[in-house]
Parts: sequence; structure tokens; C-alpha cells
Amino acid sequence: MSSALTRRGVLSLAAASALGLAGCAAQAPAADSAAPATTHRSSASTPTPTPTPTPTFDSTAHSISAPDSLWVVVDKQRPLPSTFVPSVVPVPVAHTNPPLLRDAAAAAVVQLFAAARKDGLLLASNSTYRSYADQREVYDSDLADLGRAKADLLTAHPGCSEHQTGLAIDIGAESGRCTLDTCLGAMPEGRWLAANAWRFGFLLRYPKDKVAVTGFQYEPWHFRYLGTDLAHHLHRIGVQTLEEFFGLPAAPVYT
Ligand SMILES: [Zn+2]
Repeated sequence: MSSALTRRGVLSLAAASALGLAGCAAQAPAADSAAPATTHRSSASTPTPTPTPTPTFDSTAHSISAPDSLWVVVDKQRPLPSTFVPSVVPVPVAHTNPPLLRDAAAAAVVQLFAAARKDGLLLASNSTYRSYADQREVYDSDLADLGRAKADLLTAHPGCSEHQTGLAIDIGAESGRCTLDTCLGAMPEGRWLAANAWRFGFLLRYPKDKVAVTGFQYEPWHFRYLGTDLAHHLHRIGVQTLEEFFGLPAAPVYT
């Protein structure tokens, strides 16, 4: 079913075990550092074209550790508290399971689905918010069916799923073809999502070539809402994972 299952990384993880949830946004990424150019204008002269300033980006604008932060980074080494429950609202889009997301993410999903429809593609939400208890059920089921190694690559332990944030959504084609399957990535719907989700504030969180960083197989269906500021910035600078952008250790395994 998945061609990416054996792509396990061997990154050095010297600091990984000590990570926990400390160090909120302590590491500023190497991003745009140039200060906007100052311009000198004499009052009477013809205005000279001002160079477009290099956009600055404040990578500490939101916490990456607070569970309710728009930028919280959740992975195999950065679990959410079992008690964290976000405030979520229904998302009025086609679905297989009733979708619930935080309100900003819900509004963005509606816009994204509408834009896809304009391009002739019908999408469906397959999974959105999952509670800690829900995630335990999903993981335990996969563990029983698949064994630990495969279950750990496919499904997060409870507390380590982005779905608990209320900011993650699994999206598929309304036809149901390739739902939650890597073949979605080759379908028009999957290609459209990969090319356009950033415009609406989403990140394809588990890219094909980043399994060693994210710890999860390629998931062309899983999108994480970050807001347009960060999603647009990541798109602009070509960084694909939150771990890399925030200077966090790769998270191929659980601590
Ligand atoms: Zn997902």
C-alpha cells in the first residue's frame, strides 16, 4: 500500500531525548535577515523607485510549545498533554466523518474546498480533530493489526498526533478513490492540494522525502493549518517541515 514504508532515517539525534516541550521558539531559523533598506528622499525630487524590501519574518511570533498555539509543533518527541482539548467547530464541507476544527482552520478549509471546486475538483474531509482517547483507539487498533514497527510509522501514539491540536485535516477526493492512501498524491486532487494548500494557510506535513525528519510516511492527505503568515513564508523559502524551520531535532522515533 505504501512505497515509503522503509525510508527510515538515521539522523544523529544527540539532543533529541532531552527535548521534551522546552525551548519555546528559542531557535530562530536562518530566514530573511536583511533589514529593510532605508530610503532617502528629498522633498522636491521625483520619487525614485523603492526597492521591494526583503520581507522580514518573526519566527517567534507564536509559541511552538503551547498546545493551543497556531504554530505548536507536535511530533514523536513533542507530545501534547493528554488533557489538552481544543475548542473546535463543525466544518461545513463534504466529509466521511463529521469534521471538527478550530475556527480559523475551519474557515480556511471551506475556502480551500471552494477553490478546488472552482478548478473542477471535489474534495472531502476524511478526518479532523481526534481526541487523545480517539487517538489511543486508532493506534491500538493499528498495533494489533500491523505490529509495532508499521503502526509507529503510520499512526501516532496518543498525544503525538497533530489531529489532537484541532488544526490538522486529512483530505481526499470526494470520489473516495485513494482515500488515506499514497496514491492520492498522483491524483489530480492530491496534486492540486500539494500545489495550493499553502495559499490557504496549510502545510503538507509529511512530505515524501522527509520521513527521516517527521517520523511518518508520506501522507499526501494530511494538512496542518498554520495560518497564512507562516504557510506563505515556508512556501516562499522552500522549507517543507516545521522541524527544519524551527531548528528542532528530527523526530524519526519516540523518545
Ligand atoms: Zn492525518
